[in-house]
Amino acid sequence: MEKLTQEKTLVLIKPDGIKRGLIGEIIRRIEQRGLKVIALKMIQVTEGQIDGHYPKDAAWTHRLGEKSLGTYSKYGIDPVEALGTDNADEIGKMVRSWIVKYLTSGPLVKMVVEGVHAIDMVRKLCGNTLPNLADMGTIRGDYSVDSPALANSGKRAVHNIIHASENPEEAKHELAYWFTPQEIHDYKRAEEDIMF
Ligand code: ADP
Ligand code: MG
Repeated sequence: MEKLTQEKTLVLIKPDGIKRGLIGEIIRRIEQRGLKVIALKMIQVTEGQIDGHYPKDAAWTHRLGEKSLGTYSKYGIDPVEALGTDNADEIGKMVRSWIVKYLTSGPLVKMVVEGVHAIDMVRKLCGNTLPNLADMGTIRGDYSVDSPALANSGKRAVHNIIHASENPEEAKHELAYWFTPQEIHDYKRAEEDIMF
């Protein structure tokens, strides 16, 4: 079994995070938590690469649509008027095509982050997917106020600065998808002897 201190997760700083000068701030928050960056690179990706990064199953796409519908219902917006449908699968498909455009609109920073419960800890640092729901103190809550209501009306994905693997299955796929084993490094942080 993998050591508890060596759980790995994949992080992408999205084009809006880079264009807003947040690379350093994001890495600072990751390192401050006691998590370790063990691979790092800036890349311009293709639409095909993003298509292969995100899941393709119907349940995942449905969930994207549900996120829009939840916000529409909360703020009393009629999805049929706004998007021409209130079907979560159809909205999810539209959102998936917008994500591909969003993540190819400029360079990304990809990294592998390692540490205790790294997958969950990085998700906590990110905050809720939708910045309008993200708590203050999280990256998305501190640096964005975007919402599906606004994003969908402009036919675009929600700009939320950062991607992080959601669970061990996603992390396994994404790590192997974005990095070769030779690009992932191993070193010891000075605090490790004191923290654990
Ligand atoms: P997360 O990135 O938090 O894991 P998801 O995997 O559900 O969230 O969604 C992938 C990305 O798609 C989000 O980070 C966000 O940029 C975008 N997104 C998700 N839901 C919507 C939506 N309803 N409308 C617009 N963009 C969305
Ligand atoms: Mg996700």
